[in-house]
Amino acid sequence: MRTLGLLASSLSLLLSFTAPALAWNATGHRLIAAIAYDRLTPKVRARVDALIRRHPDYEKLFLRDAPAGPIARARAAFIAASVWPDQIKGDPRFYDETRPNASPPQLLPGFPDMARHTTWHYYDTPYTPDGAEPGHQTPPHALSELNRIIPLIGTKADVPSTSASNPVYLLPWLEHIEGDVHQPLHCVTRFLKSQPKGDAGGNNVYIGARNLHSLWDSAAGRDDSEAYAAKYAADAVEAYPAKRHIGKKPAQWIAEGFQLAVSDVYTFGNETGTRDHPLALPPGYEAHAAKVAQQRIAIAGYRLAAVLNEKLK
Ligand SMILES: [Zn+2]
Repeated sequence: MRTLGLLASSLSLLLSFTAPALAWNATGHRLIAAIAYDRLTPKVRARVDALIRRHPDYEKLFLRDAPAGPIARARAAFIAASVWPDQIKGDPRFYDETRPNASPPQLLPGFPDMARHTTWHYYDTPYTPDGAEPGHQTPPHALSELNRIIPLIGTKADVPSTSASNPVYLLPWLEHIEGDVHQPLHCVTRFLKSQPKGDAGGNNVYIGARNLHSLWDSAAGRDDSEAYAAKYAADAVEAYPAKRHIGKKPAQWIAEGFQLAVSDVYTFGNETGTRDHPLALPPGYEAHAAKVAQQRIAIAGYRLAAVLNEKLK
């Protein structure tokens, strides 16, 4: 059993050199966006396409590798937009506003600000299994931003492009954050007496060359090809069909993610490992994570479609 764990961690060590992960990796976000887009009503799809076409990074980033035909092109742009909030983390046009003394770069046309908004990607519900003192995240975070963005996404008035309330600017954020909170480790931070500052959603739990957060981010695979997405989405939808009442409240999505973190993520006990002595996960852990991820991705896709179909109808 021990050998299996070691084998799995050396495999993940190999994989981790091929691509660094940021929040559900690109594959996870693209799958959620694809499942959602294919469930939009024709009218809503047309409105969504129009918003995406007006985004300041439409030509530069959303159309990269997009097919030529207009229908496939619009779908590809919507899918690419879901990854944009992660792309700007490494984009020199933007800056990290959470750093002390950070100074904003030049404001470019079409953007309300040039901040990376890295805290919008998660909501740290505190988890304290050994009674450690919990920490609390202050807004802006995933919950405050989802609750702000969802009521604004259907705004029909011509909002100035420099307004932070412009749906053109908010749509990629909605696609992205809605997806992120369906990754259980975007809904939790675990505080232990041995780790009183918290584990940053599993980023400070060492399981080999990767950390726990990154294992879950990439639990839907690392393949951005259309063939992989089509097969994955078809399998996910068949395994986890849409229910009529799927819930449209962000606080509920996050509460589910937190419950899953307790029941299915932190199943290895109150250990954190260290870089030098990473912890060994129980056998079958990664296979189970892949299953949970598949279900969360299907549900996130249905929910994103439901929100857009309601707000943009
Ligand atoms: Zn993210």
